[in-house]
Amino acid sequence: MSVVPVLVINSGSSSFKYQLLDMSTERTLASGLVERIGEPVGVARHTVYAASTSAAAGEVTGTPTFLDATRTRELPISDHTAGFAVMLEAFASDGPSLADNPPVAVGHRVVHGGARFFEPTLITPLVEINIDELSVLAPLHNPANLAGILAARRAFPDAPHVAVFDTAFHQTLAPAAYTYAIDADVAASHRIRRYGFHGTSHKFVSEAAAAFVGRPLEDLKQIVFHLGNGASVTAIDGGRSVDTSMGFTPLEGLVMGTRSGDIDPAVLFQLARRGGMTIDDLDDLLNKRSGLLGLAGSNDLRDIRAGIERGDERAVLAFEVYVHRLRTYAGAYLAQLGGADIISFTAGVGENAPHVRAGALETLGFAGVEIDPDRNESPERGIRVISTDASRVTVLVVPTDEELEIARQTLAVSRA
Ligand code: AMP
Repeated sequence: MSVVPVLVINSGSSSFKYQLLDMSTERTLASGLVERIGEPVGVARHTVYAASTSAAAGEVTGTPTFLDATRTRELPISDHTAGFAVMLEAFASDGPSLADNPPVAVGHRVVHGGARFFEPTLITPLVEINIDELSVLAPLHNPANLAGILAARRAFPDAPHVAVFDTAFHQTLAPAAYTYAIDADVAASHRIRRYGFHGTSHKFVSEAAAAFVGRPLEDLKQIVFHLGNGASVTAIDGGRSVDTSMGFTPLEGLVMGTRSGDIDPAVLFQLARRGGMTIDDLDDLLNKRSGLLGLAGSNDLRDIRAGIERGDERAVLAFEVYVHRLRTYAGAYLAQLGGADIISFTAGVGENAPHVRAGALETLGFAGVEIDPDRNESPERGIRVISTDASRVTVLVVPTDEELEIARQTLAVSRA
């Protein structure tokens, strides 16, 4: 079978990640990172994977196992266009050759699609204008995503480029689920509503879970916990997102590595009036200095675990607050869906922290959820069942692979 290369780009403001996949086998051929763009010394890392590598299933999130070779270079990289030139040099010198097998399509992760983009979209100049205009809603992300798109279009002018939006999967939310109970005119004039994020991962995991249990997606009620540094949970009915914990921005919902998740908005009034904090101070507090970091001094759950073992009371409380919130959402989404067939855990914490999974579900025996402690603690990798055979709800660990999902959607759009 001939190679079907698809390049996936995830662009930030001063860096971008890339992955080249062969979609005839869904195997990762190469990946890399170009960072510190615009700084005096930039860094470019390029990894080529051995032929036996499979990133499609069964491995730690996005990290194929058998490395062939990684090369890191340090050099000035003035902007994203220069970064793409560096990436092309890495492919030319270390392989695989893009001259022999140019990408048939290039997929771009775009954080915010607003209410406008509900599916992956072929990028045209008009779509670029729309992504730029949506920067009002995602000022940190959309301009960075667009910089990557513009540079990639210059580097690969002949390939179709496709935007895959983090928000798109949640465009199926009903008004009751996405509307905030504030003055309707104020909300409308500022496009204030819940959008939801991590959609690419929630879609990938819910589809992988359905395939794994061998039942049609359309027949299943699912709850997916995406627990990474950012974290969200989604209620999915028949493959459609019906509720999700992130809202207008990725700040709402679960306790995260550095974000507070749900909080009474009046806390902000108090901190502004009595604490003299500015809007920027509050933004920084809730997005960067809260969550596990704010409670216990580290955003990494492994450190929290080590703290608990040392008897650090702050770590104990951080863990309890984290798990309490998970349980609250598990109950809420069981109620919204009227029960669930599958509950899945994914991303860095979800895939690797059995004590979090057990804590999140331990009170749900009444709803037919029963975790098997040995299966939950098993160091096995890959998609797996962690509930008992008697459990009415199947509980799974499902390694997410957002790049593969973006590549799949990109190929489908480019062939349509
Ligand atoms: P992600 O955003 O999906 O890359 O997840 C990153 C987070 O996963 C880290 O900040 C850690 O808190 C968590 N994590 C990664 N590996 C482990 C592990 N072995 N045990 C517990 N948490 C982990």
